[in-house]
Amino acid sequence: MDKNNITKEYTNGEITVIWQAGKCIHSANCVRNLSAVFKPKEQPWIKMDQASSEEIINTVGKCPSGALTIK
Ligand code: SF4
Repeated sequence: MDKNNITKEYTNGEITVIWQAGKCIHSANCVRNLSAVFKPKEQPWIKMDQASSEEIINTVGKCPSGALTIK
């Protein structure tokens, strides 16, 4: 499977964060903004239970590449 086509979903039951691996430019904005949730060295790398939905939405909005979206 082409790594660039990988899409992963993470939910807290209220919102779902979608991460598209191929779009991520590894700027680490997400990690800097909300390090309790975005942990690139762990699996799963997004910990949806470590912040409020509002905080997660705010951080997703700062992703410069569009790799992170919310549904
Ligand atoms: S902010 Fe977006 S582009 Fe940057 S590391 Fe996080 S997901 Fe990737």
